[in-house]
Amino acid sequence: MIETHIQTILQTLDPQQKLVVVTKTVSIEDMQRAYQAGARIFGENRVQELLEKYPFFEDSEVAWHLIGNLQTNKVRYIIDKVTMIQSLNRENLAREIQKQAQKHQLVMDCLVEVNIGNEPNKHGLAIEDIHAFLAFLAHECPNIRVCGLMAMAPYLPAAETRPYFQQMFTLFQECQESATTTPAFTTLSMGMSHDWQVAINEGSTMIRIGSAIFTEESVK
Ligand SMILES: *Cc1c(COP(=O)(O)O)cnc(C)c1O
Repeated sequence: MIETHIQTILQTLDPQQKLVVVTKTVSIEDMQRAYQAGARIFGENRVQELLEKYPFFEDSEVAWHLIGNLQTNKVRYIIDKVTMIQSLNRENLAREIQKQAQKHQLVMDCLVEVNIGNEPNKHGLAIEDIHAFLAFLAHECPNIRVCGLMAMAPYLPAAETRPYFQQMFTLFQECQESATTTPAFTTLSMGMSHDWQVAINEGSTMIRIGSAIFTEESVK
């Protein structure tokens, strides 16, 4: 049951930890059930799908996060609809977000995406490139508020994901201490359906869960 899955997860989180309910391929009806059960952040990885679903929740308290790789030419469609872009992973995307945010006179909350497992099929910056990228954002993108980091651990049995989450937490703390970040840098988005308990144990402040909520397997 969608409702019990969401409530089970929410009960285990501290107030400063957030649940992003990942709604890619999920029907409006199931999203409404999730909302009724207490979901307040929806994560979508495709712009087209987000735009189709957005009108159904316009009068609700839902915040939308873009969590998938974002094409530069699509930033303008979502800039005034999402409250956070979690997949900021390259310089030209940052420049486009900066441009569109400035045009709309807003400041966009973003997370910098890290490719923590150095996987060729995944997006995100390598750990060693993070500090230079943060410096670039601080100097050249006044309309981007850098709120933290996002990462996906390699797809491994949950127990084997721990070292990746530990590395992320260390990097997160280093970034917080760096002169290139501000006090807004408080979000560490990591943990998905099969590994979120491990991620929480290792310091995640935001988990992104789809299949464990919307398919009939239970939350473990
Ligand atoms: C799909 C997706 C998730 C959720 O994955 P599940 O295994 O279904 O919980 C989280 N983060 C990103 C970036 C995704 O694309």
